[in-house]
Amino acid sequence: GGSMQGAKKSELQRSVMAKASGQHLVLENFIGGKFVSCRSHIDSFDPSTGEVYCKVPDSGKEEVEAAVAAAKDAFPDWSARSVEQRVQVLNKLADLLDSHLEEFVQAESRDQGKTVTFARTVDIPRSAHNFRFFASSVQHHTTDCSQMDHMGCLNYTIRCPVGVAGLISPWNLPLYLLTWKIAPAIAMGNTVVAKPSEMTSVTAWMLCKLMQEAGVPPGVVNMVFGTGPRAGDALVGHPDVPLVSFTGSTATAQHITERSAPYCKKLSLELGGKNPAIIFADADLDKCIETTVRSSFSNQGEICLCTSRIYVERSIYSEFLERFVAAAKKWKTGVPSDPSSHNGALISKEHLEKVRGFVALARSEGGIVHCGEGVDQLDLPEKNKSGYFMPATVISGISESSRVIQEEIFGPVTCVSPFDTEDEAVSKGNGVRYGLAATVWSQDVGRVHRMAKRIQAGLVWTNCWLVRDLNLPFGGMKNSGVGREGGKDSYHFFTETNVHLDCGLRESEAKL
Ligand code: NAD
Repeated sequence: GGSMQGAKKSELQRSVMAKASGQHLVLENFIGGKFVSCRSHIDSFDPSTGEVYCKVPDSGKEEVEAAVAAAKDAFPDWSARSVEQRVQVLNKLADLLDSHLEEFVQAESRDQGKTVTFARTVDIPRSAHNFRFFASSVQHHTTDCSQMDHMGCLNYTIRCPVGVAGLISPWNLPLYLLTWKIAPAIAMGNTVVAKPSEMTSVTAWMLCKLMQEAGVPPGVVNMVFGTGPRAGDALVGHPDVPLVSFTGSTATAQHITERSAPYCKKLSLELGGKNPAIIFADADLDKCIETTVRSSFSNQGEICLCTSRIYVERSIYSEFLERFVAAAKKWKTGVPSDPSSHNGALISKEHLEKVRGFVALARSEGGIVHCGEGVDQLDLPEKNKSGYFMPATVISGISESSRVIQEEIFGPVTCVSPFDTEDEAVSKGNGVRYGLAATVWSQDVGRVHRMAKRIQAGLVWTNCWLVRDLNLPFGGMKNSGVGREGGKDSYHFFTETNVHLDCGLRESEAKL
């Protein structure tokens, strides 16, 4: 009833606001439907102040063992439930997320450094939508069926849940990417052990509270908090976890692949990007500049799909650069809770230093830094002076072979350079090890279709950015990933196929 919900809501609010009363928020693992405290903790920071926000369990092998055992226990019952029963739970989770939206928004912004506006319009609504989407899509999948008349056999495939799914997610879109995995995994009947990023665990922990309220049976979703090398490694190396869905960096994915090899695990790897925007002279330049500023700098450039290389046809290069830099200067970096801020703070001090290091490298290689980099002009309140802020930064004059062009920076930094021909644009666009996403700007229909085919990227947008149909496959080529997620592809990943051949349609056994 309403009053119950009111009571729960204030409990959630109280726990998230614990810091206000002078204490740090202390997270606990969620195992077998219960919150379990951990012996040791690591600090997680508020990126906008540099102060400790919460204490995250430093889980290791022991905690992962317990969580996998709980998930294994819960599997027979959960996987035997009807799709309708499972869907009810997913929809309930979506409704609960909607009704607690603002608490999740505040926590995500504080934990990650992103603006409250971004969390309110993207992260949290999308997290609720992930549950609703998979609740709906799981009901529409069909399997193959054939009737081989000449043998009188009926052949069909059965799709079964795989077992305990290990889910590992990054810090940039914490709840969004975690629920993108949890929702399909449990919709298909698997049980889960999830390990969110140690830098952004708060909303995952809050989600566990909603799991209890939504009636998710104990053990169906378990959450183990901690670092990659301890908790993550123990999860990936556990023999009772037959599939791992990972979103994060390419380097970690290589590690996970090696670690899974002895068990031949099923892996889905969603990795980094170095996404080009290719802009032809016939583009609608107003729209293109507005969108390319957003695609380069949204969420501090900490989205795997952000544009980080901009190639512009030479005849409009100077005009583009001048207008783009002017627009980037208007992209306001500021306190995350300020509604006028477009960007908040970067995730950590180390990350900020790494991103700044790339700008310094660009300069040392003769590149021009047109705007951004320093924080002097930001006019931050006193308490945010130690936050990890960095304004939108535009660089030009960098060679294609530079590390600045070749490596993922994952911050508010983008490089602009000219091209002369379509072939040159394609070869520059494809000239890195990554292949996640690209945007193409042109009014020529034939050209945009040609480009979509020639660009090595899992996703190519024409004259837009970030719009998605969750039914369609999402993932990267080359070093940007292995496998695809979304709609039917998530269904395939989170289930095993078995083919049933039945010759019962014949009176005697078919012989080949
Ligand atoms: P990361 O690889 O450092 O960490 C990701 C997760 O893996 C974290 O939970 C971390 O604790 C865990 N981890 C680290 N080492 C591990 C190990 N040895 N074994 C098991 N788990 C381990 O990545 P990050 O810095 O958190 O995230 C940023 C990266 O994620 C960027 O490269 C970005 O492009 C990528 N990303 C990709 C997508 C996509 O869909 N393709 C989406 C978002 C982010």
